[in-house]
Amino acid sequence: MTRMLIIGPPGVGKGTQAERLSHRLNITAISTGDIFRANIKGQSPLGLAAKEYLDRGDFVPDSLTNCLVRDRLLEEDTKKGFLLDGYPRTSAQVEYLDAVLADNNLKLDIVLQLTADDGELLARLIARSQEAGRSDDNEAVIRHRLDLFRQQTEAVVAKYDERNILLKVIGTGSIETVTDRIYRQITPRLKRQGRQDARLATAVGRQ
Ligand code: ADP
Repeated sequence: MTRMLIIGPPGVGKGTQAERLSHRLNITAISTGDIFRANIKGQSPLGLAAKEYLDRGDFVPDSLTNCLVRDRLLEEDTKKGFLLDGYPRTSAQVEYLDAVLADNNLKLDIVLQLTADDGELLARLIARSQEAGRSDDNEAVIRHRLDLFRQQTEAVVAKYDERNILLKVIGTGSIETVTDRIYRQITPRLKRQGRQDARLATAVGRQ
């Protein structure tokens, strides 16, 4: 069972890869951006509160985001493992997530960082704005989301790197190429972790 995060700038392909990975690893994918967009579409109180932030490309306040993630992580379908996409994005969110996991005796196994340069990201997001029409995919808002990533989320990446659970994968090339690259990086970690889990189970069994 694997508990992991996927982190990267807007447009790097986190959502696409998260979906593929969660299927292959049989873990639950949770995207905070998707949850907000679904709530906006359904005009729920959360959606109404979050909409202005999403439209501007700003972070939704922690008072809304943190509880949402905590509640989602305590649902039954995360017991088989989870892949969190879009959270944490700030150092304060890292601390909150640490506390939620510690309270429930859980720990993260892998933090996967996807990278691409700003030129590539801008081109992808502008192309997407012309096709799908996400309300936050226009050039000024895209630039703001990229700036916020550099200002706030790079510190998050650094924190996980210090903990030695960060794996960095280049997010350019075809979708399949990136998935293969991710697999090559995470497989040895998952194997090592599987052996640790087995040892732990044997030790507990002996008690
Ligand atoms: P992207 O990373 O491509 O910009 P996401 O779908 O991950 O897109 O997020 C879209 C928007 O949802 C963000 O710009 C932000 O307004 C909101 N959001 C998502 N996750 C968080 C979070 N962890 N904290 C605050 N706001 C968030």
